[in-house]
Amino acid sequence: MTKKIIITGTVQGVGFRPFIYNLAKSLNLKGTVSNTSQGVLIYVNVSNDEELRNFIKNINEKKPVNSKIDNIYIENVKNKVFNDFEIIISKNSSKKSALIPPDLAICKDCVSDIVDKSNRRYLYPFTNCTNCGPRFSITEKIPYDRKNTSMGIFRMCGKCLDEYNDPNNRRFHAQPNACPVCGPEVWVVWKGKKVNGIKAIDFIVEKVVEGEVVLIKGLGGFHIACDAFNYKSVEKVRKIKKREFKPFAVMFGDLFEIDKYLELNSQESEILTSSVSPIVMLKKKDYKNFEYVSPKLDCVGVMIPYTPLHLIIFKKLREKGFFNPLVMTSGNFKDEPIITDNEEALSKFNKLAVLCHDREIINRVDDSIGFVDETNIFRLIRRSRGYVPSPIKLSYSCNKEVFACGGDLKNSFAFLRGEDVFLSQYIGDLDTQENAVYYKNTFNNIKKLYDFKPTVMICDMHPLYRSSFIASNNFNIAKKIYVQHHIAHIYSVMAEYNLYDNLIGISFDGTGYGMDGNIWGGEFFILKNKKITRISHLENFFIFGGDSSIKDIWKSFVSVFSDREDFIFRVLKGKVNEEKIKLVLKSLNKKINGFYSSSCGRLFDAFSVVVTGKTYSDFEAEGPMRMETFLIKDLLESYKFSIEKYNGKYILRYSNFLDEVIYDYEYYREKISTKFHNSIINVIVDMCNILRKEYSINNVVLSGGVFQNRYILNGVIKNLSIFGFKVYSNRLVPLNDGGISLGQIYWSICNHSFIF
Ligand code: ZN
Ligand code: ZN
Ligand code: FE
Repeated sequence: MTKKIIITGTVQGVGFRPFIYNLAKSLNLKGTVSNTSQGVLIYVNVSNDEELRNFIKNINEKKPVNSKIDNIYIENVKNKVFNDFEIIISKNSSKKSALIPPDLAICKDCVSDIVDKSNRRYLYPFTNCTNCGPRFSITEKIPYDRKNTSMGIFRMCGKCLDEYNDPNNRRFHAQPNACPVCGPEVWVVWKGKKVNGIKAIDFIVEKVVEGEVVLIKGLGGFHIACDAFNYKSVEKVRKIKKREFKPFAVMFGDLFEIDKYLELNSQESEILTSSVSPIVMLKKKDYKNFEYVSPKLDCVGVMIPYTPLHLIIFKKLREKGFFNPLVMTSGNFKDEPIITDNEEALSKFNKLAVLCHDREIINRVDDSIGFVDETNIFRLIRRSRGYVPSPIKLSYSCNKEVFACGGDLKNSFAFLRGEDVFLSQYIGDLDTQENAVYYKNTFNNIKKLYDFKPTVMICDMHPLYRSSFIASNNFNIAKKIYVQHHIAHIYSVMAEYNLYDNLIGISFDGTGYGMDGNIWGGEFFILKNKKITRISHLENFFIFGGDSSIKDIWKSFVSVFSDREDFIFRVLKGKVNEEKIKLVLKSLNKKINGFYSSSCGRLFDAFSVVVTGKTYSDFEAEGPMRMETFLIKDLLESYKFSIEKYNGKYILRYSNFLDEVIYDYEYYREKISTKFHNSIINVIVDMCNILRKEYSINNVVLSGGVFQNRYILNGVIKNLSIFGFKVYSNRLVPLNDGGISLGQIYWSICNHSFIF
């Protein structure tokens, strides 16, 4: 009997065909295996059902580590005759649903190859195999075959071709397979001079040791790199990127080095060394060494070498007795996308030594970032390299294709096909022309890659959102659905955990456009009987100025404390011009030139001015992040929000505890941060208890940027659990606006109604 078997999921570029080949051979089966745009296609002759069952069982149990099977479809077809089992050339079929694997960090075997002097790939920066190497970043089209990647232009040498064709070799059908004879190479350009090969790496290493800032082409883009412990070098990077305080990610040589300086548990170690190899936020053991890379914060974003090139650089650094971590921040100017093109890097950074290579980056991908919470769950802050383009599975299948625009900050958009949501890589903030172009181009690339034909577009309700504007003007999708920003946050969690109804949704966030024309961001929703209602929110306060208050956080401070002018002038003395303060106070009194907001993020900003004395913000959430360093462990004291029912809604008031804050400022200033954090945790728990009594609902969903604050997130989860609530929060997509496109999609298929 001949059987046709189609396997869907992440089954290309992960050594699946060789695995099938070897498995079939070992079971003495005859037939063929090939890649199609749907997945992997097998024809196999079996003598009975038992033999088929055994074959399928082995596929499921022994599949390659980096593969993921979604479905196995089996069909009877007309009997064919096969003499052997063979891998055959990929066929194109019309429906493109095969999944391109994400980029994979270098595997242990390839590490052994590049450090072994007798190996022909000794110190070769583009070493890879079926278990590791570039995937999405080099793929132009599916199926994932060499000719459809930027490796297509490199002709394999005899030895590489032998490996590629040998089913017993680790590099059997490894599409980016390469060696020093036939593959890509590195070179460095400095002051118009060019050096090739290993000498280029030596040169870059030399520069780093001397304290210079250099540019290094990586997997998904260029990094700006330098000695992370060298104050002057890091200052130079800050000047180049025009980032006064923004923390930079660092790369350590290995886990042992990390352990010397930062708190590292087994879960964090596992994630750092996984095939994803993201940036993990780790707590500082001592602050001294990281004061330059991550000033006044308690965490540093850390990764370890994930490409052969990184490994070779660190090996060479060590040979020179250099053991410090390197700054590895994305190679771009402020608010522009990470640079991927050699020419662009060379012209924009012509004063630096630039390490280039000729393996073209087709899809730009930034490093992913996340943190491990107290319940040992790894939660993403940025979902990009190593994750994209793997889809997130819904438990519903949709028969039309949908596009979701995402938000304007930390943008990531999404396509829905069937039950798969394909989130784009991290695009960034859409307020620059460069990122708007990046958004447009990435839309076109991903649409082409999978041949998406969306008929519905989901937008944020904000009338001035650039994401909706760019999508409406360029993407030619007729039908539009609008979703409120914080509802999208809640639905992003629901999508992850397959929740549908009966829950309390809490969205504590920076800003989002509300249905009443105000800016929301401290919201409680009740979802019951497929109706979602805004049931409670933080007390509104009037904020002067539009988006300028996000940067000039002292304006939020003045807004919150507007009735207490003496205090305002005391806190801002010598920091903000008095006339400016008076001007703001004047418009606050008249309620002009501003807007009402219930944003928890803005309230955090206001309190951070009181706690840290810093009056402006260099990057999003800087104030709140700095407040975390002022937390006192085990201090249980708290301010107390009053909860008042007004027009059927619970209003969470903080104005009644502001005098206590002023008192603390005088006598117990060091306690303010902890008391404020605790008050947020407590009011969430109190409100959930009230709502459970009223609506008999036990499930709580948390989302929004505020929950990236680990003290708040851990505190809320812990305390709600004590009261028996079941708590859900994002982990597969970011808690911040990087996750809302998933929520937008899920909202559109749930068909719920919103009662404002
Ligand atoms: Zn490998
Ligand atoms: Zn070769
Ligand atoms: Fe948001």
